[in-house]
Amino acid sequence: MKIQENKAVLIHYTLKNDDGEILDSSEGQEPLAYLHGHGNLIPGLEDELEGKVVGDVLRVSIPPEKGYGLHDSGQIIKVPKSKFGEVEEIAIGMQIEAHTSDGQRVFTVQEVAADTVTLDGNHPLAGKTLHFNVSVQNVRDASPEEINHRHVH
Ligand code: ZN
Repeated sequence: MKIQENKAVLIHYTLKNDDGEILDSSEGQEPLAYLHGHGNLIPGLEDELEGKVVGDVLRVSIPPEKGYGLHDSGQIIKVPKSKFGEVEEIAIGMQIEAHTSDGQRVFTVQEVAADTVTLDGNHPLAGKTLHFNVSVQNVRDASPEEINHRHVH
């Protein structure tokens, strides 16, 4: 059975950056289950998996445009340090969840100055080329309920 829209798919994957460092992996855990064709994976990975079958192994490099998007400097904001009253120590690279008018968002601390903190609201993988190693573990028809919910159960 080929991977196409409305198939429930199980994959094992390892994600590396340009330096070959592992950023994420399903190895040693349950494989990742997803519903194909509903935007549950980044677009580039869904494109590459289309038409694949159980046992297929892929090594693919996905550009930012088909991954987590380009890095947008408009997403970088400066916030007064006083807003972090209850946070004991603010360190570069720390991730902070905040409620904004766009809902819950994650910011990464980019710079800490005497009285301001620079936060980057881009996805941590924005602007990065993503190097995936993927093996297809299982492909089945999704149930009508799964298709309705747009995720696997
Ligand atoms: Zn559901």
